[in-house]
Amino acid sequence: MSTKSPSELEADETAQNRAQWEQFSFDVDSLGLIKVTNESHENSEAHQYTVSIDDVTEELMACTCPHHVHRNAYCKHMAAVETATDDGTLEAFPSEDKDDAEPEDCDCDGLGGLPCWPCVRVGRKELPN
Ligand SMILES: [Zn+2]
Ligand SMILES: [Zn+2]
Repeated sequence: MSTKSPSELEADETAQNRAQWEQFSFDVDSLGLIKVTNESHENSEAHQYTVSIDDVTEELMACTCPHHVHRNAYCKHMAAVETATDDGTLEAFPSEDKDDAEPEDCDCDGLGGLPCWPCVRVGRKELPN
């Protein structure tokens, strides 16, 4: 059984709608910690909160804004992060050695599209299932 009351569902929707027109910028602090700045406020520094994401389940965990802290609400920051991670504009878990430092012993070119083991090992590529 879902435990959400109609008014809670409505609050979710409101958060999502607002996230669409408010301008948020994101900054990945460390893995799974997203700094969310509301650029539509004049004093955007004062409207900066951190949304955390579980690094295992990749579920949204919490936000530091009063809305979430005091009411445990699904706030617009979480909605914004969720939207951005869903559509790929935000990577909550960027791989450490980003942009593909190719391993020295990379052999991908010889494998007809399959990743080579060195690349798989460093997390640069994934083995197809
Ligand atoms: Zn929030
Ligand atoms: Zn390779």
